Amino acid sequence: MRELEYTVLELEKESKKTCDFCSKFENKNNKSVHQIRSRSKVTGEWISDDMVCERCEEKYWDDELSKCNRCGRLQTKLDFDIVNGKNVCYCIRNNEDLEEKELPLLPHEEISQSTFYERQINSLQEQLNETEEALEIEREEVIKFQEKSEKWGKRQKQELLDRIKELETD
Ligand SMILES: [Zn+2]
Ligand SMILES: [Zn+2]
Repeated sequence: MRELEYTVLELEKESKKTCDFCSKFENKNNKSVHQIRSRSKVTGEWISDDMVCERCEEKYWDDELSKCNRCGRLQTKLDFDIVNGKNVCYCIRNNEDLEEKELPLLPHEEISQSTFYERQINSLQEQLNETEEALEIEREEVIKFQEKSEKWGKRQKQELLDRIKELETD
């Protein structure tokens, strides 16, 4: 399978207004909020731009949007074949030749500026996700600590009460 690199980007002015993954019929509010660009991982060549609504973007981050296992393209509603009831990807409809060897860039060849920025965005997004995860773990630790100290506090109190009782009965 060809490997693609996907980047979630801001919409451009001329972008379509509705989501490429779902229809108004499935999701009344399928206004596009971002676009997902895909490029070949090896050559940086542009493959596709798909508009995505809020709900489908969530699916994208959860890795729930289906991808063609031949060419790696995200499968949009246009790829859905009603007759077969399954996805028939662009690469199959257009008989795209994937056997053609994709040559990696030579060191003196430069990736395009947009590919460069998209890679930056991707690595920042990754860092952001990691930070969010770390924060989540920290939050859980704090809660655990609070529960523990609460329990400890209760035990302390009980011990004191017992002690007082003992003194009183003495
Ligand atoms: Zn959608
Ligand atoms: Zn495909």
